[in-house]
Amino acid sequence: MKKLSLLGSTGSIGTQTLEVVRSLNRQGRLPVSPVVLCAHSNAKLLEEQIREFSPHAAVLFDPAAAKNLRERIRDLSIPVLEGMEGLCEAAAWEEADITLNSVVGMVGLRPTLAAIRAKKTVALANKETLVAGGRMVMEEARKNKVEILPVDSEHSAIFQCLQGCPEKKALKKLILTASGGPFYGKTREELQNVTPAQALKHPNWSMGAKITIDSATMMNKGLEVIEASWLFDVPPEQIQVVVHRESIVHSLIEYQDNSIIAQLGCPDMRIPIQYALSFPKRYPSPVKELDLWERPSLTFGKPDEEAFPCLALCVKAQTLGGLVPAAVNGANEKAVELFLAGKIRFLEIPQLVEEALSLQDPSDAVTLEGILEADRRARELTEQNANG
Ligand code: NDP
Ligand code: MG
Repeated sequence: MKKLSLLGSTGSIGTQTLEVVRSLNRQGRLPVSPVVLCAHSNAKLLEEQIREFSPHAAVLFDPAAAKNLRERIRDLSIPVLEGMEGLCEAAAWEEADITLNSVVGMVGLRPTLAAIRAKKTVALANKETLVAGGRMVMEEARKNKVEILPVDSEHSAIFQCLQGCPEKKALKKLILTASGGPFYGKTREELQNVTPAQALKHPNWSMGAKITIDSATMMNKGLEVIEASWLFDVPPEQIQVVVHRESIVHSLIEYQDNSIIAQLGCPDMRIPIQYALSFPKRYPSPVKELDLWERPSLTFGKPDEEAFPCLALCVKAQTLGGLVPAAVNGANEKAVELFLAGKIRFLEIPQLVEEALSLQDPSDAVTLEGILEADRRARELTEQNANG
């Protein structure tokens, strides 16, 4: 029986994780028990999940929502924790074997560190954690001999391809595929007036709002370059981004002899989620089979960096290093929030990210306090610049 602490259980990744858990439990070969379930404020869905899975405890970050949940489940003797303290306690839950972090945003950083310090295997969907605090997270993981298993589909693909890699120096580069999002092929001119509703319509994946907007700006791919750079210890110049509209090839690796290995499958997050839970084993999954007879062509192309500058901004941030990626991530989180609220236009997102990038001193020390401060300053600056 694998015991799971699940952060972000009510979100897109969280609910799909619970689907995978149900499917594994039906098969009986890898039973998984969610021992803690955490979310931000969705007390109604969390209550349903608690009644189904009977965890040891639950967490709602928002104190008012936590109070509401305590009332809803007063017939059960399950404690409801709250705030960052509750989230970190859940991440490091004593009985858990693995912590899957699928909260959205930088708020996931401290819980990830808490899980690592408690020597839990970490399954990581929360990419902002590695973007803002990659150096710290990877150092802590090495120090505590903890494995970080990627959940993000591209990184899971690379991780799967690397299972056959004889030695690090055999690897030449990583190739991340990008769907290009809903606006691929549009010019800057055509992107002027796109609305949040249009940006929220992703062609291939159904995901939370923040990552869907990141896909539309291609910031998501930029964040993923940084994520891959930390996870696989490869500099950004050895990571190539390829637009692949069909989202069937989830990513590839190239060896020194120019042989390329890829991972393919239907675009469905339940494959990478299950692999992170079952690694290194494999079991049948609820995802449908990819029928290659139905896929006569797969296409590949170059990203349009003029219409979608966020990708290059992230590469630059990672090359500069220090706290620059943390500032870029913080500015983007704020800009996406403002765009979704109708307060800024689509093309202002990369502008605001670039302003935060240019103002962050790359030589500032990378400590937890430094990361949190760079994040706070970038958000504040973005809010001011958006209003100015
Ligand atoms: P969603 O917005 O669908 O879900 C976010 C989850 O995090 C919800 O359960 C939410 O709770 C919870 N949450 C948000 N803030 C907090 C907080 N402060 N404390 C505790 N819980 C919190 O996001 P996704 O599932 O789409 O994405 C989650 C992460 O996974 C992101 O980092 C994203 O980039 C990454 N990812 C997602 C993919 C996808 O297909 N969706 C693919 C690859 C990576 P509540 O419901 O109460 O608000
Ligand atoms: Mg991805």
